[in-house]
Amino acid sequence: MYIALRIQHSLREAVFKPWRVLQLANVKGLACRECGREYPVEPIYVCDFCFGPLEVAYDYQSIAKATSRKKISDGPRTMWRYAEFLPVDAKFAVDMQTGFTPLIKAKNLGRKLGLNNLYVKNDSVNPTFSFKDRVVSVASAKAIEFEFDTLACASTGNLMGAVAAHGAKAGLNTYVFFPANLEKGKILGAAIYGPTLVAVDGNYDEVNRLCSELADNHRWAFVNINMRPYYAEGSKSLAYEVVEQLGWKAPDHCIVPVASGSLLTKIWKGLKEFKEVGLIDHVDTKMYVAQAEGCSPVVQAYDQGSFHVKPVKPNTIAKSLAIGNPADGFYSLKALEASGGAAAAAREDEIAEGIKLLAETEGIFTETAGGVVIASLRRLVEQGKIRPDELTVAYITGNGLKTQEAVEHLVDPVYTTPNYESFQTALAAKKK
Ligand SMILES: *Cc1c(COP(=O)(O)O)cnc(C)c1O
Ligand SMILES: [Zn+2]
Repeated sequence: MYIALRIQHSLREAVFKPWRVLQLANVKGLACRECGREYPVEPIYVCDFCFGPLEVAYDYQSIAKATSRKKISDGPRTMWRYAEFLPVDAKFAVDMQTGFTPLIKAKNLGRKLGLNNLYVKNDSVNPTFSFKDRVVSVASAKAIEFEFDTLACASTGNLMGAVAAHGAKAGLNTYVFFPANLEKGKILGAAIYGPTLVAVDGNYDEVNRLCSELADNHRWAFVNINMRPYYAEGSKSLAYEVVEQLGWKAPDHCIVPVASGSLLTKIWKGLKEFKEVGLIDHVDTKMYVAQAEGCSPVVQAYDQGSFHVKPVKPNTIAKSLAIGNPADGFYSLKALEASGGAAAAAREDEIAEGIKLLAETEGIFTETAGGVVIASLRRLVEQGKIRPDELTVAYITGNGLKTQEAVEHLVDPVYTTPNYESFQTALAAKKK
């Protein structure tokens, strides 16, 4: 097995190398999250020795020297203000002005939930209307550095839009693979940029398996497969921004929607990094997993006090979170343990209610993943895990216009002819 793997690996090297690789002062290389073995900066993602996932390792002393609150504050009003903490040279960025999205003090929603210090990080207003622009910003820049001419992904919906837009702007060939039964808004939201759309008759986990095989045999940059170590780092900017927007302070609680679990683990990593380099003094943040009951493998493991995530077959309206076998499920549970956080699932019927509640209280229209976050937050408050005065941040990661199906049934206008009397009658009838 081991020998076969080495042979396969060297064959692949023979086919694929060389890569253009530029030395960065802030990056040491890749390291296996399981056994710690080190690897060069290349489009690779698994450890040859133990199959563990590879992660970017940084030189924090060098970053600490190069960064300061002032320097960050004076930077661009995008995620690239944190370039020192990202594993790519910002000059390769396909810059769509991603990031630096609003952090809103949610007084109205807080009142409904019994929280006096609630914030909503509204990441639904990125260029392609989800936080996936952050991860694709890093992955596409890295793909250009490595001299790939093709950008690709396996998507639960939002990723394909971000990949298609970045691919279009960079002039790369673009392939996006997705479960054929996705929402129309997600498919159109990618199609418009002109990628090759590949609708797969299967669920996300099956799409991902197909793409992993393709990544082994084509010189394509699959942002969330062979580029995954770099891609994942883009999510850290969602931690940095919140800390900066709170006046250089880490929150008490972060509620994060979980699909593969990458976003949650990277928000946690980002918070710790800011402390590591001295930008903040302490991090006492608790991390929380939010999933939909119809696909909640991480919440189930948490409830059983286990670190073993048992794969499930997704059956949820929160399609952007429908990963039955989450690659970073284990590491998400570790982040919950290390931070003292917890996990909560939203019932399927609570998801649309969560969307509606956020819209009616704060004027923010989120997609199903956001509905999951609001419903899960409500549960955590009910359980007494989050107390009224604690500084709580709910991460809203995608836009409601892409999942209109989920709330269509709530549309109920007053019908009238264009006539004064008719309107009065129709309104009265409606109120009855
Ligand atoms: C992809 C996605 C997530 C979570 O992604 P991870 O795979 O857990 O990193 C959360 N919200 C939305 C809207 C998404 O599209
Ligand atoms: Zn290893």
